[in-house]
Amino acid sequence: MGRDEPAMSITAETRVYGIFGHPVGHSFSPRMHNAAFDALGLDCVYVAFDVEPGSLRPATLALKALSIAGVNVTIPHKQAIIEHLDFIAPEARFTGAVNTVHNSGGTLEGHNTDVGGFLRALSGELGFEPAGARVVVLGAGGAARAVLSGLGMKGAAEVAIVNRTLPKGAEMADYFAQSFPDTGFGAHALGDTTALKGLLGGADLLVNATSGGMEGSGELSLPLESLATGAVVYDLVYNPEETKLVGEARRLGHRAAPGLGMLLYQGAESFRIWTGLDAPLDAMREALGSG
Ligand code: NAP
Repeated sequence: MGRDEPAMSITAETRVYGIFGHPVGHSFSPRMHNAAFDALGLDCVYVAFDVEPGSLRPATLALKALSIAGVNVTIPHKQAIIEHLDFIAPEARFTGAVNTVHNSGGTLEGHNTDVGGFLRALSGELGFEPAGARVVVLGAGGAARAVLSGLGMKGAAEVAIVNRTLPKGAEMADYFAQSFPDTGFGAHALGDTTALKGLLGGADLLVNATSGGMEGSGELSLPLESLATGAVVYDLVYNPEETKLVGEARRLGHRAAPGLGMLLYQGAESFRIWTGLDAPLDAMREALGSG
């Protein structure tokens, strides 16, 4: 049953959840979480709040004043919201970003479920465990932070951050090298094709954490034929559902998966933090259009 035919009506008891972002109209999260609430018959609703950067502080304080039970946080607020919260969970602290706020009896807790969502998708969809692995991560934005944190937490051996703007990649490598001294972090320019070929040739895993390949963004141009035999590919982009990178990697014989799984599992973990219940994955997957 979808939101067009709600299983229950909104009452004075209904618990309110939502997402803070700007813009936020494109988000898949309202339909995913409302489908989950419906599937379990919970008297809860999830709405989108378009919060402009200058309004983040009052919007966050309003979570307490209005007893809003929890929110997801997306671009551009994932880092900025940290200073307005009462407690930051370890994985969010390592990542330097929060994507889930839980209002626990008036205490605002910040979590990062993108990290666990990425690791669960990697393990569940590709059978890949990062311990000891050599990894190439494309991108140095907000999504890359969660990927780098997950790889560090799981003990990857070497992580090459390859970004269009080299100084941003270098800054990211310094930041994560301090948090995870046992993992070797380095930075390279996406335009340096010779270096990229060498990195791909020695990689166990390639992750795309750029917007390249996303609908409305440009395509990535990669020397994918240099990727080591047996290496796997994870593309965080989920719109289109199967990207050109995933299609090309599969054509070359690599196991590859697009970002819908990470989206699903980060949502499932937010749901568990908020409700204490296991998320109804099938209903959520169906709401995302991949049932
Ligand atoms: P962001 O903070 O804006 O960072 C964008 C990154 O992509 C930067 O590294 C940027 O490089 C790079 N980039 C943008 N366009 C590019 C192009 N045409 N060629 C090469 N590099 C390009 O965005 P984000 O939050 O990290 O999101 C990145 C992607 O991950 C988006 O497609 C988003 O939908 C996806 N994502 C998926 C999930 C999931 O659950 N599957 C979760 C979060 C994000 P510069 O630094 O040079 O600008």
